[in-house]
Amino acid sequence: MAQYYTTMNLKSRFAPSPTGYLHLGNARTALFAWLAARAVAGRFVLRLEDTDQSRSPQIYEKALLEDLRWLGLNWDEGPDIGGPVGPYRQMERLDIYQKYYEALLETGQAYPCYCSAEDLAAERAVQRASGKPPRYGGRCRHLNAEQRSELEARGIQPVLRYRVPDSGMLIVPDRVWGERSYALADLGDFVIRRSDGSPAFFFANALDDALMGVNLVLRGEDHLSNTPRQVLILQALDLPIPEYAHLPLLLGSDGQPLSKRHGAASLRDLQLQGYLPAAVRNYLARLGHHYAETDLLDDQALAAGFSVEKISRAPGHFDVAQLQHWQRLALQALSDAQLWEWLLAANSSNIENRLLEKMLKTVSEDENLPIQFVAAVRANVLFPEEAVDWARRCFADEAFAELEKDDAALAALAETPAEFWPLAAVLLQQSAGDYRIWTKTLQQESGLKGKSLFMPLRAALTGRSHGPELAALLPLIGMERAQQRLRTAASVLSEARN
Ligand code: GLU
Ligand code: ZN
Repeated sequence: MAQYYTTMNLKSRFAPSPTGYLHLGNARTALFAWLAARAVAGRFVLRLEDTDQSRSPQIYEKALLEDLRWLGLNWDEGPDIGGPVGPYRQMERLDIYQKYYEALLETGQAYPCYCSAEDLAAERAVQRASGKPPRYGGRCRHLNAEQRSELEARGIQPVLRYRVPDSGMLIVPDRVWGERSYALADLGDFVIRRSDGSPAFFFANALDDALMGVNLVLRGEDHLSNTPRQVLILQALDLPIPEYAHLPLLLGSDGQPLSKRHGAASLRDLQLQGYLPAAVRNYLARLGHHYAETDLLDDQALAAGFSVEKISRAPGHFDVAQLQHWQRLALQALSDAQLWEWLLAANSSNIENRLLEKMLKTVSEDENLPIQFVAAVRANVLFPEEAVDWARRCFADEAFAELEKDDAALAALAETPAEFWPLAAVLLQQSAGDYRIWTKTLQQESGLKGKSLFMPLRAALTGRSHGPELAALLPLIGMERAQQRLRTAASVLSEARN
């Protein structure tokens, strides 16, 4: 297979249509195209395919750039920063397309078609009825100048069609799928300019890749069948043909197209749920691409390990458990201070505006408190709201009475003799809050040990049967709240039962 690019000059691109929030499948496509370029010090281009004006409101363009940046991607040329072969919005390139339409019209490789939507539908119905694949039959292929002016005089705005050669085969190599051959006679003359003058997808997309010097087109498998038409256009215009690599689809766990009911459909969903970009990058990079390394990779390592040859042909399945695995690793890689920053950022963007920060400030102005808190709970936190929950369990006076009730915690309380609680409270006072001394003396005097000692303590102090080390939580809960929770453990239990 011909290699059009070398590692010296690779140029890849991401060419989204800003018609909604960035779908995870497209985010993965963008990531792969970016990694392909960064792997070899190539160039990465962002181009907006905004020709569907009814579906491209401004907010989506802005959101798209934000989301790509959040994921950690950067581009060397794009609509916001310009570049040597811009503009990078297709709606700003209409003059350019016009020149190429004229060239194709001049050589007869394109022609105007006046057929109405009804004409075309009727034609397809006939073809289907006789078992033939539906395609344009070529009614306007041979109109002469006189017939055309007559139709135009009636006010019909024609589309432009590309005149596909009647016979022959077209071989299109693909870096993922190998060579595919297409019988030209099956393609049918396809539209390259709509009747309102706007460019058809096939045309603008292929032309822009060529004019922008893109030599590696990494995109979704849904575009595989567009490739022969695009290659024909480029051949007709004597423009360079990029290499293509079509990525298998990204599906939900049940094999259906990925949608919200699988937990997330857009990159923004993941961002709002509190995922870290590094977790998402590591997860998406491995979805349909093989990495030998199983640990969290930084961008340089992700790029160094990336190659088009390692892309799988099997569809990828979105798997929340896998994504959470990467979230865990990405969180582990953060320092306590970075983790606190992440919690604050996540908290300031939701309705509970900076709740966490406020809660901690109320408890103490001690600057070390946030770090102490993070260090205590970090192993039990995958998402910001879990940190908020632990903050409530540490700092809120209502203890677990108001919080989610944990059945195992309630059971542990129920099994503990009533005289245990005043004893625990007194000994806590005597040990001056020293966790080790407290639990040691409590064990000696109550005769309880192991799980039957620590479960009720955990349940009384946090309302849960599992969580961070009690020794780390106790100083955060503080003597006063701890005392109160021990004293009220039994009564809270009886309330909870009613
Ligand atoms: N605008 C097209 C899309 O979003 C681009 C396809 C391509 O990458 O060539 O599907
Ligand atoms: Zn026609």
